[in-house]
Amino acid sequence: MAKDIQNIGIVGAGQMGHGIALVCALAGFDVTMLDLTPEALDKGVKAIQRDLQREVDKKRLAQDKADAAVSRIKTTTAYADLKDRDLVIEAATEDEKIKKEIIKKVCPVLGPDAYLATNTSSISITRLGAGSDRPGKFVGMHFMNPVPRMELVELIRGIATEEETYRLIRELAVKLGKTPVNAEDFPAFLVNRILLPMLNEAVYTLYEGVGSVEAIDTAMKLGTHHPMGPFELADFIGLDVCLAVMQVLHEGLSDSKYRPCPLLVKYVEAGWLGRKTGRGFYDYSGPKPVPTR
Ligand code: NAD
Repeated sequence: MAKDIQNIGIVGAGQMGHGIALVCALAGFDVTMLDLTPEALDKGVKAIQRDLQREVDKKRLAQDKADAAVSRIKTTTAYADLKDRDLVIEAATEDEKIKKEIIKKVCPVLGPDAYLATNTSSISITRLGAGSDRPGKFVGMHFMNPVPRMELVELIRGIATEEETYRLIRELAVKLGKTPVNAEDFPAFLVNRILLPMLNEAVYTLYEGVGSVEAIDTAMKLGTHHPMGPFELADFIGLDVCLAVMQVLHEGLSDSKYRPCPLLVKYVEAGWLGRKTGRGFYDYSGPKPVPTR
């Protein structure tokens, strides 16, 4: 009965938040997107407009449909504006403290029947749900990046998530044109449990001098038919997100095989977070990305 969900709130207007807003608005839902500053919201809305225009230019989307989607998205920095939302999807920075603070602020403004989902890449749904006033209506809804193009949504129940919540969110995922896959509530769930250790291992091979950024990316693309090399992909995901996921895996599973590579830590400490900051394992300041190592 996903028709019960009409109005969706999204907290975070970054890469994932704006992508989720776009697919929800295109599917006909009324969207309110919240971020810390008007600048962050403006950046998110511009990205939505750019992504939609690209679809129109490629004749994959009619102009009136794109315009209608944009008109369904409102922005705000005030939690009170989320009060009429049937569902709020939290898609802010991958930091448990930040997510818990957001959940604390969202819950009191929502109606008692509203649902709360998180797009976390790795953090326990049970723990985040326990910090809400509605663990039964709390669920993990993990979209992939870029949201409009990637077909998968991982759905994760916390220990207290009610079956009705899970069913509704599953129906919503299908309405958004996505294929839901169930993952259990273990650190980093399914995709990132497998993907992130691979990316971290690529950083170790660079760190140990086994190959350069270019050699490793070329080897993985031509040798395993991955569409992007591990460094291209890590820069695309965001190195802060990659590090945060590795830390959750390392702490949550207490296994040294998940130790984040010190070189990855150093890049994040330098603020070299990948594409979003213009520099990561590649430098994006010129017309073509240039490897930094
Ligand atoms: P991002 O850095 O692009 O965006 C994060 C946004 O959250 C920013 O706009 C920031 O201003 C906002 N924010 C931070 N603190 C906030 C607060 N207290 N209140 C409101 N907004 C706040 O990050 P992202 O890549 O969009 O990641 C967001 C979430 O999605 C994370 O949980 C991440 O793990 C998850 N995720 C990321 C990817 C990926 O490939 N990047 C894929 C799937 C899921």
